[in-house]
Order: sequence, then structure tokens, then C-alpha cells
Amino acid sequence: MAEITERILIVGGVAGGASCAARLRRVNEKAEIIIFDKGPFVSFASCGLPYFVGQVIAEEKDLLIATPQLFANRFNIQVRLHHEVISIDRANRVLEVKNLESGQISREKYTALVLSPGSSANLPLIPGIDLSGIFTLRTIGDSRKIKEWLVLKKVKKAAVIGAGFIGLETVENLVKLGLEVSLIEMLPQVMPNLDPDIAMRLQERLNSKGVSLHLGETVTRFAINNTGNNLSVHTRSGHVLECDLVILATGVLPEVSLARAAGLQIGELGGIRVTDRLQTSDSHIWAVGDAIEFRDFITGEWCLTPLAGPASRQGRIAADVIAGREARFRGTQGTMVCEVLGLTVASTGQTEKLLKNLNVDYEKVYLFPGHHAGYFPGAKQLSMKLLFSPIDGKILGAQAVGEEGVDKRIDVISLAIQKGGTVYDLEEAELCYAPQFGAAKDPVNLAGMIAANTLRGDSPLTHWQSLVKSDLYIVDVREPAEFAFGHVEGAVNIPLGNLRKRLNELPSEKELAVYCGVGQRSYYATRILYQNGFKVRNISGGITAYRIQRQIPA
Ligand code: FAD
Repeated sequence: MAEITERILIVGGVAGGASCAARLRRVNEKAEIIIFDKGPFVSFASCGLPYFVGQVIAEEKDLLIATPQLFANRFNIQVRLHHEVISIDRANRVLEVKNLESGQISREKYTALVLSPGSSANLPLIPGIDLSGIFTLRTIGDSRKIKEWLVLKKVKKAAVIGAGFIGLETVENLVKLGLEVSLIEMLPQVMPNLDPDIAMRLQERLNSKGVSLHLGETVTRFAINNTGNNLSVHTRSGHVLECDLVILATGVLPEVSLARAAGLQIGELGGIRVTDRLQTSDSHIWAVGDAIEFRDFITGEWCLTPLAGPASRQGRIAADVIAGREARFRGTQGTMVCEVLGLTVASTGQTEKLLKNLNVDYEKVYLFPGHHAGYFPGAKQLSMKLLFSPIDGKILGAQAVGEEGVDKRIDVISLAIQKGGTVYDLEEAELCYAPQFGAAKDPVNLAGMIAANTLRGDSPLTHWQSLVKSDLYIVDVREPAEFAFGHVEGAVNIPLGNLRKRLNELPSEKELAVYCGVGQRSYYATRILYQNGFKVRNISGGITAYRIQRQIPA
């Protein structure tokens, strides 16, 4: 047998670490590969944990994607569980590892080291946070404890603190278990990584399903209530919520204690700094997953992306680099999807609020198409928002929410972004179509067409926010019955079908802003008016967008 000259050690054996190890073996049959994980499992599905709590995933064993035996037999990789790496001696390329069961400490030499230690819960300093009945949901052990508590205390009321995707998935599962759930979020919207106009539909759904939403609210303390049977959650505005279970979903921080102590470079956002070859500031150490910070694909700014997809891909790329292959990580754009009580929400790239913060010039369109052809039964309305450069049409980001067909639209746009695509590419994209799946002009094509129309000057756009202080002459081109049912203050109603005959009623010296239900009829109106010499803008998303905007707190 050939002598082993390479010894590759991996810290952390879940998303990034496990995928790195398995790929390493596929590209390097000779090296000794060892994974250390301080926990009791290797390669488990953390993304399934909320659904295990909600009994959608029935068996704990279904969360285990691989076992140490599988790694040994299939890949000739050693997995050492309950082994915590406690320090890195970079000068001698040695790890100090503690066996958490025996207490023994060993020294392990490496030729290459991969860090994939993940993240840790970002726990706010709230008095009472250590009380029984308050949990985080990060590991299989956590989910076990929550399930036991649910049974033991016959839990009826729960409070979830934090409305990011883990908080929302937890809410969904607790509601499905029949619990009364309160959701408390410090920011004025759920899902803070989305724009509020997209998050609004989630909030409506949560409200309609009986979730008690407390937005823009902070928890000031937890306490055992007077009767001593359950907990009370006290908030800054004076609310006291009684419950039997609290789940903290207040975000994560990159786990960098080992890297920091070893003197590896840590970035401004608190993640391990790596190159596009996923190499740390030490040329023998690579890092992947939640623990690193990397350049955003669109803005080039440093960012943290604690998601399983990037972690797995980075693990694979780091393995290729270690094996001497030409591989680079091209960056992340935060593509995510989440289900909330029958609604799917997904996003890719930048949000409007981030673009504003970064002073990036952008334009946006809203659209509300059916998820498939309207003539086929069961079409569900999507709410979509596309952000793009007004200069060259480069796509900057997209968000969508709806009951069906959300993820595929965002996935298509995500890949378009990664290929440097523009709204003109979306306009022309060839996508599969049969009436039960999409439309001959798919929502992705429509988003591109609306955006391209505005960039070409065919249908200049405006937005409700821009109208607040402008003196545009607002025309509602819906039918009188729709107008009577509710319209924007000050708008004049000229239905699209009568527009050509009633042009003389419109002021030729003023700029017109036209709207309808969602923006389609007003687009046709814009074309008529434009070709008749009027200066005109279509209000993106029509009255549907207006109603959403009105609900967003200023
Ligand atoms: P992890 O997978 O967290 O693995 C890190 C491992 O390192 C841990 O097992 C830890 O024990 C070990 N470790 C740390 N320090 C040491 C040490 N010093 N010595 C030895 N071992 C150590 N992402 C999505 O994209 N979609 C989802 O739907 C989704 N849902 C999620 C739901 C929940 C409840 C959670 C908690 C996360 C979810 N995520 C989801 C995030 C995703 O799981 C993480 O982004 C991904 O697991 C990160 O991979 P990683 O390898 O960086 O870290």
C-alpha cells in the first residue's frame, strides 16, 4: 500500500465539512481524511429540524443523511464524533483535539486543514433567557428537547422570538401542531432579508391563520408567571404574553473562536476572511460555510450567507482546490426560499433596502401574474418584484411570494444573475410551458418585458412612493365598477376601452400617471397616450401595489 503523505483534517462534519470530505475522497484516493465534530452526529439535516418538531418528518433517523459507518465504508473517511478541536498550532500544523467523552486530549498533524464550524445562535442579553421552556433550534438535540417539552407540559401556547426564516418555519410547524402562537420581531416586518412590500403578504397570511404578530417589538424579559406553570414574555411596549414554550430564533453569528484564537484573519462582519479559493490568511487552512464572510456576487461587498447551499458548494470547491484543481467560488447572492403557512416566499440577489443603503442606482417593477395560464383551472397569483440597473438592465435582485410556482421563477432569475444577465435576457428566456405549469409568456418573461419596456422608453414607469410629492395627473383606466369599489384619491376614471375617445378630457400640458389593477391595462393605456403625444408614466403594480404600500409603516 502506498505511504500516506497527505493528512487532511476537517473541523465540523455537517453541510460544508461533510461535502468537502466526500468530494476530497473522490478527487484524492490516497490522502488520510478525518472529520472531527464535537456533536453526536455527522451530516445531519439541520434544515429539516423545524419539520421534525412539527412531526412532518416523523423519525429522527430521517434527519441523518450519513453516518460515520457510511463515511468509513463508502469513502474511507474517519469521522470522530464528540471530538472538539480546541486549538490550532499553525506553526507546527497540529490540531489539539479533546475527546468529549473520555476527556483525553490528542495532537493531530495536518497537511491541509478545513474549517467548517458553522455558526452559533445570536442570543440577546435578555433577563430570564435561561429559564426552562426557552429553547433555540440548532441541533437534533434541541429539537428532541422541544418535542419532549411539548408533550411533558401539554403545550398550548408558544412564543417565537425572531421572524427570519427559521422563526417563520418554526411558527408554521407549531401552528400545524394546533398551538396558539405569538411571533415577536424587533424590526417592523417579518423576514427582514426581504423588502417590506413582499413581506406584507406573509404578514397577512400569518394574521389570517391566527398567529399573533408583534412587529417592531423587543422582548425585555422572560419570567415564570404568577401561577408558576408557564412563562411570561414581557415586551418594551408593555405587552405580557403568557405561554408554555419560547423558541429563540434571533439569528446566528459565524463560529470563529478557533480561527480567531489561531490568529486567522477575521473580517468586519465577524466571519473568517477567505479568498475566492476559500483559503484563509494561512495557506494551509481553508474555511467554508456559515463561518466565513465572502464577497456578494452583485455588489462585491463582504457578506455573511448562513445557508446550506453555499456551504455545500464551498465544501466541494475547497476540496478541489486542496486537490490542486483550478476551482474558485464565484460569490453568493443569498438565494433563499421558505414556506409560511401555505405561502412560498423566495428571493435572490439584492433587496431594494440594501441597494438604497449602498447608494446603488436601481429601478424596479412589480407584477402580479398567475403562476400558470389563467385559462387553466387553479392559477394562483404571484407577487413579484424585480430590481435592475437603469443603465444597462443588469438584474440586481428578485423576490416573489405566492402559493405555487414561486421557487422556479426565483431559481431562473438567480441563474440569470450569476451569468451576468439583464432584463433583456429574461424577456427572451426560453422556458418550458404547458398551461398547468406556466404561461406562454412566463412570469419571468413578463418581468423582463416590463423592465425592458421601461428601459427602452416604451412604457416609462413610476411608483406610488414617487407620486407622494409629485403633481402628476392620475388616471385610473379600470372599469367604473372597479373604480367605485375603491380608488386612489384624486384619480380620474377613464376606462381603457373609452380612452381613445376621451383623450380631449386629459390635460396635454401635464404629465400623466396611469394605473389599473396590476399594471397591464395601464401599460396599454400608456402606449395609447404616448403615441397621442402625451407625457405619461405607468404606475408599476397598479392599485395592488398601492394597497400593499399603504400598509407599510412609514
Ligand atoms: P454546520 O452545518 O452548522 O456544521 C458545523 C458543525 O461544526 C457542527 O456540527 C458543530 O458541532 C461542529 N463544530 C463547530 N466547532 C467545532 C469544533 N471546534 N470542533 C469540532 N466540531 C465543531 N439553510 C438553507 O439553505 N435552507 C434551509 O431551509 C435551512 N434551514 C435551517 C433550519 C434550521 C433550524 C437551522 C439551524 C439551519 C438552517 N439552514 C438552512 C442553515 C444551514 O443549516 C447552514 O447554513 C449550514 O448547515 C451551514 O453549514 P456549515 O458546514 O457551515 O455548518
